[in-house]
Amino acid sequence: MDQMSPETPTAAPPTPRRVPTVAPSSYTLALLLLLTLALNGCNGNNASNHNAQGNAASSASATPSAATQATAKAFDGERAFAHVRRMVEIGARPAGSAELARTREYLSGELQAAGLNVTADEFTEQTPGGARRMVNLTAELAGESPDVIIVASHYDTKPFKEFRFVGANDGGSSTGALVEIARAVAGRGKPRFTYRFVFFDGEEAFCLEWEQCTNAGAPDNTYGSRHYVAQLAERGETKRVRAMILLDMIGYTNLSIPRETYSTPWLVDAIWTTARELGHAAQFPNTQQTVEDDHLPFLQAEIPVVDLIQLSDYSYWHTAGDTLDKISPRSLQIVGETVVASLPRIEQRLAR
Ligand SMILES: [Zn+2]
Repeated sequence: MDQMSPETPTAAPPTPRRVPTVAPSSYTLALLLLLTLALNGCNGNNASNHNAQGNAASSASATPSAATQATAKAFDGERAFAHVRRMVEIGARPAGSAELARTREYLSGELQAAGLNVTADEFTEQTPGGARRMVNLTAELAGESPDVIIVASHYDTKPFKEFRFVGANDGGSSTGALVEIARAVAGRGKPRFTYRFVFFDGEEAFCLEWEQCTNAGAPDNTYGSRHYVAQLAERGETKRVRAMILLDMIGYTNLSIPRETYSTPWLVDAIWTTARELGHAAQFPNTQQTVEDDHLPFLQAEIPVVDLIQLSDYSYWHTAGDTLDKISPRSLQIVGETVVASLPRIEQRLAR
């Protein structure tokens, strides 16, 4: 429905959050230079050009094994989309809001129905908006090993006074996909590793900009993930967490997810290789971007991380236009099945 057209968005183009600098890999550099010349004056908001770049950069694709195909099929993009629709219907869901509490009830119900053990960790954070109660939600699936693989998303939306922000892609898409990933993994029997599907509260800054109200040692963002990692340390569980896969803004109709450069290379490779096997090379191009997100507290704790995020060419980011019509079941399917089918490969690597 939504080809990115040269139309002017109603709001001003978003200022880049979280340093989404594009750093092309060397072999796409020449092509990128050509595109840059062609796009002279365009600030990079044209997703179709990024896609063209991705297609050109990734001609190689292997045939997936029958096992990979079967694992991928466990994920249902329509179900994921239905979760996002429900969240958007609930409305704007900033940290501490009644809407976020209702969202949490919905997510808990769905995760419990899928047979997962759901726990809520409630805590209070000092924010520029005052003290806020926040809740991280964790759905656990016990595996053969007590070692843990975390798959995560933030489920809050950025607070805006100026307009109604429902975050269909920013917070919604990844959360809906995560509920469905949890159901798909749980439905395949006892896994090799223990899985935690974690829904972070308070990823978004209360101030307008990501670092606008950050003081030394007290960022105004990633409240939930920082709290989670602190809890891991307190319980002596950090070493048990072997990998962390973060989803954030993965539902855009014109899907294109660059490699995020803070992310751990082998974990990125595991996912990008699987994407190629499943025929999704165009949506997982070899371009690069650098994004600050909920994966960084885990990285600081020396846990391998990967962040799947489409930020720099999603022009509805942090605008009233981040609505359900911008995302599609197909995009959710592509990311969801790629993540689910990557897990055996990641487990294999960790079991070495
Ligand atoms: Zn956001």
